[in-house]
Amino acid sequence: MLTITLKPGKEKSLLRRHPWIFPTAIERIDGKPEEKNKPGATAVVQSASGQFLARAAYSPASQIRARIWSFRDNEPVDHALIKRRVKQAVAYRVENVRDTDAIRLVFGEADGFPGLVADWYGGPSGYLVCQFQSAGVEAWKAAIVKALIDETGCPNVYERSDASVREREGMPLVTGVLAGAEPPDETPVTENGVRYAVDIRRGHKTGFYIDQRDNRRLVMEHASGREMLNCFCYTGGFSLAALKGGAKHVISVDSSGEALATGKRNMVLNGFDDTRAEWRDADVFKELRSLREQGRRFDLIVLDPPKFAASPQQVDRAARAYKDINLLGLQLLREGGLLFTYSCSGAISAELFQKIIAGAATDAGVDARILRRLSAGIDHPMTTNFPEGEYLKGLLLQRI
Ligand code: SAH
Repeated sequence: MLTITLKPGKEKSLLRRHPWIFPTAIERIDGKPEEKNKPGATAVVQSASGQFLARAAYSPASQIRARIWSFRDNEPVDHALIKRRVKQAVAYRVENVRDTDAIRLVFGEADGFPGLVADWYGGPSGYLVCQFQSAGVEAWKAAIVKALIDETGCPNVYERSDASVREREGMPLVTGVLAGAEPPDETPVTENGVRYAVDIRRGHKTGFYIDQRDNRRLVMEHASGREMLNCFCYTGGFSLAALKGGAKHVISVDSSGEALATGKRNMVLNGFDDTRAEWRDADVFKELRSLREQGRRFDLIVLDPPKFAASPQQVDRAARAYKDINLLGLQLLREGGLLFTYSCSGAISAELFQKIIAGAATDAGVDARILRRLSAGIDHPMTTNFPEGEYLKGLLLQRI
């Protein structure tokens, strides 16, 4: 068995249940040479004085040198643990997630699987889509896939391990069928009565932004009779929800032609009258300025950009970008109009985001109030001692 001994004092973050170990915390690694080079090998982690701290997955190539599987002395990392945790993760979603067949079944650390994402589209005859983003879950891939199939009854599993974080773990980017059938170009899902086509093989992440489900529902509830602008619309998640909710007209902006094409197909899937929607292939930063120059105004605006800050070093630049689009967004709102604004940057805290928005309102010369704080859905839980897990935060603002 591999043993990781920490430097004196470095056990503190583990005692607080933070699930990552960095190289600077490690004093010594003992074990057979083949274990020391084996990505994903299970290691016992102990303090400098030899106190048991955790069992972790060792990742020799990564800056996150080990990720915790369990803080319990009596919990071995074995097939039973994998099965038990998958079973719990699936049971939790079955109990809590309603009105959709697009569900995040496993969300990394908060489900006891550091670096694993498993999404489920289309029910028992649909597809499970997995991202293995750390050496630990990569080493247990076969067991995880089997457990997912057993617990859901869905035989089709597709791998989308093509996110660049894998390279930081020293693992190649891979995609492909892990079990069952190859997914078609479009897998239909139905969320809150709206049909969406999901491209499992080529779409962003696993194909769909499942995390915004509750927020799409909120937009649906506020859309009736309103003129909407949806920025960074991807395949039209918020746009379709608004149309279902009775929006008068929706302009959707994205720089990906393919995403927009899927958005338009989603209109057809739902039988919506396409005179109610306009899809613009444009850069949002420029489009917002040009709409302002034209004197356009909207009743409802959504700003759901990609992750502007991928690391703490990028926070300042990202803050300027968030401020810029929110300033413009607030100016484009009619009085009484609503702005749903988001950040999915883990490096930007909810407090900082709110400060950025406050600064944007001041500089826009606009009075606004916060109606709600927004977050990801119930299938994206966070562990209490892992703030990095809270990546999606948002605010519902009203111009007054
Ligand atoms: N709101 C979407 C998810 C947004 S993902 C949903 O609920 O499904 C971010 C999107 O921003 C991607 O589709 C990407 O193509 C687009 N994008 C990134 N930079 C952009 C830019 N500068 N202008 C317009 N679109 C951009």
